Amino acid sequence: MYKHLSHGFRIKQIVTEIEQKIVPVIRKIEEQAEYGQWKVLDFFRKHGVSEHHLQSSTGYGYDDLGRDTLEKVFADLFGAEMALVRPNIISGTHAIAACLYGILRPGDELIYLTGKPYDTLQQVIGSGQDGSGSLADYNISYQEVPLTPEGSINWPRFEQALTHRTRLIGIQRSRGYSARPSFTISQIKEIINHIRAIRPDLLVFVDNCYGEFVEAEEPTHAGADIIAGSLIKNPGGGLAKSGGYITGKAKWVKRAASRLVAPGIGLEGGATYGYLRDFFQGLFLAPHVVGEALKGAVFTSALLEELGFDTSPGWQEKRTDIIQQIHLGSPERLVAFCQGIQSASPVDAHISPVPAAMPGYEDPVIMAAGTFVQGASIELSADGPIRPPYIAYLQGGLTYSHVKIAVIQALDQMISTGSLSITTPEKH
Ligand SMILES: *Cc1c(COP(=O)(O)O)cnc(C)c1O
Repeated sequence: MYKHLSHGFRIKQIVTEIEQKIVPVIRKIEEQAEYGQWKVLDFFRKHGVSEHHLQSSTGYGYDDLGRDTLEKVFADLFGAEMALVRPNIISGTHAIAACLYGILRPGDELIYLTGKPYDTLQQVIGSGQDGSGSLADYNISYQEVPLTPEGSINWPRFEQALTHRTRLIGIQRSRGYSARPSFTISQIKEIINHIRAIRPDLLVFVDNCYGEFVEAEEPTHAGADIIAGSLIKNPGGGLAKSGGYITGKAKWVKRAASRLVAPGIGLEGGATYGYLRDFFQGLFLAPHVVGEALKGAVFTSALLEELGFDTSPGWQEKRTDIIQQIHLGSPERLVAFCQGIQSASPVDAHISPVPAAMPGYEDPVIMAAGTFVQGASIELSADGPIRPPYIAYLQGGLTYSHVKIAVIQALDQMISTGSLSITTPEKH
């Protein structure tokens, strides 16, 4: 492998050292994956998952035993009362929107406690009664409480924001594509306890995207009323071709189901076409696959730190999601890095990404993704907006080896294009 690189010999030396250094962190991730694997297996056994559960329904999808069993396994895994795991939830945004519309009623207010939510939610929240069908259009108001400069919850601001309209509090576990740290399960537990101490009547929603199986517990174990996520991220294990999930207290999951489908049908209907085998098998693999992505992220972080770059999280830091930030410090390096990742993709390796304008972004964005499932971020991808400090976001990876090979390729690309020199390590 190294022979095919322009600076293979030197890179191999560095990589060998890095892999020795990260052994204890890798071992911890493997232990967590093993625990997750045991838990998944245990709930498969408890619910008697059988060959006939892997066969999917058609038409209305009433009495789909496989779907109902999968949802019981999911609910147990998340320490929740009920779950909705469906192929017709088309994305994470769709799952989140079903929760918000399911719970909130005209006159209610949603407060996001963790600053600005993920980009795709802006239009769900909406800004005026413009006929778009946004929450604002239904007279559901919204406020957000920006995080403090240190990245923690601004409790005084939160208490000021509360009114008699306030009904639902939103928490985003993962940093997503912002520069703040992610919230661990123990932090989420503290946050929820604090909300309950101030106003026990409020409901708590957690956007759990990118977080599943990274820690031993999920936000529902920490007291969240309802959470949501995407199956083409962590819990689909790389096998789910589409889909999303919602889980939490039965009352609120039923409301979300009524919104997703129709009142009176709710959870009862919804064919699973040919998806169930992928969902069961993907869930079975998910703890391991998430572990592989995390190991890849730790390797990446350690390697790039060694070369003088700031990374977040650092390789030794506690993780609660699969996102890795690398501060590359120059547009040339960001472009070369993403091009290197793309050139090591199993699909579309021959394509070279370039920065381009994207809806919802102020600056051009470069994106590298050569995935089997379109847009699946449990598979390896890297991207970043072309603006200082030129941060690359790297996430996913079905195998540790793939992440390692791709990041080495990205490093070689930066060196070959002259945007990085490794003969003289320096602080960038
Ligand atoms: C991915 C993601 C979403 C939803 O995105 P989709 O592309 O609609 O699946 C929401 N919040 C966070 C933090 C995410 O990472």
